[in-house]
Amino acid sequence: MNNSIIAIDQSGSFRVYLTLSTDAVAEACRIHETSPLATQALGRVLTGAGLMGLMLKEPKDRITLQFKGDGPAREILATAYGSGDVKGYISNRLLDLPPKEDGSPDVGSAIGIGVLTVIKDVGLKEPYVGRIDLSSGEIADDLTMYFFLSEQQSSSVALGVSSAPDCPVKAAAGFIVQMLPDAVDGAAEALENALAGLGSLSRLAEDCDGPRELLDKVFGTLPAEFSVSALEERNIRWHCGCSMERLEQVMLTLGADELRRLLEEDGEAELTCQFCRSRYHFDRAHLEMLLRVSTQAAQIKEERRKRYEAQQKGEAPEPRKSN
Ligand SMILES: [Zn+2]
Repeated sequence: MNNSIIAIDQSGSFRVYLTLSTDAVAEACRIHETSPLATQALGRVLTGAGLMGLMLKEPKDRITLQFKGDGPAREILATAYGSGDVKGYISNRLLDLPPKEDGSPDVGSAIGIGVLTVIKDVGLKEPYVGRIDLSSGEIADDLTMYFFLSEQQSSSVALGVSSAPDCPVKAAAGFIVQMLPDAVDGAAEALENALAGLGSLSRLAEDCDGPRELLDKVFGTLPAEFSVSALEERNIRWHCGCSMERLEQVMLTLGADELRRLLEEDGEAELTCQFCRSRYHFDRAHLEMLLRVSTQAAQIKEERRKRYEAQQKGEAPEPRKSN
């Protein structure tokens, strides 16, 4: 069953991206063995990234959210693809802080003062990079601010994860409402009223069978002229596409000298994927092979450079003779 919906209201004033991301967040929590607060923080970032992934046009397009602050969480990063795949990690997976006065998890203090960086790679020569100072570190507010400052887009973001002692992720959900350029008068106010009395999104999500039910719970109180209907159903799922081939590429970026040093000093190497914690072991024979590839690549590059320089010299106009 699909867990996400793109919807629009009757008057064409706003678009809604909504997801029940429980499975993806539960998978992240299982893989990274996160503490309750780390699950909250990572779950919100993953859900936010997944929702922004729904806005991408091509399955291969991707968006990365990086929250980096001076709090104990250090860094939280999530990448989402247009295909609906999401992956992410948190530097401090055992993060623990007392809850806020109202009993809610203190994600803001966990992240602290810092910066949100958004990297959007849609197959252009250079990826788009947007950067803002964090407003609260509570993730949803920061994303709302990001849309406003970096994309001049008025939007409303809500993200929530709920847990119970016997079940680290009971429910996870999120939505982004984006105002459209032709929004009619009264749409923003109607939305504000509907969302004001909403309460906890994750609690609402707990007894929902699917995203349509959640959509109805969240937006069902809007007046008829702004009632929302689904345009499209999509699916957000946890997936890390790492492989030995990709990790070989990472090893090759070290360069021949570093590979030689690894071979001589350790005789083997092990890399762990940051996203899914899969381990990739490189034995001596494998490292020797990579060193050969790296050395050959360096030689080819050098020859190409020489040939290019010779060509440039040959084709360069003769220096003018001075009289
Ligand atoms: Zn991986």
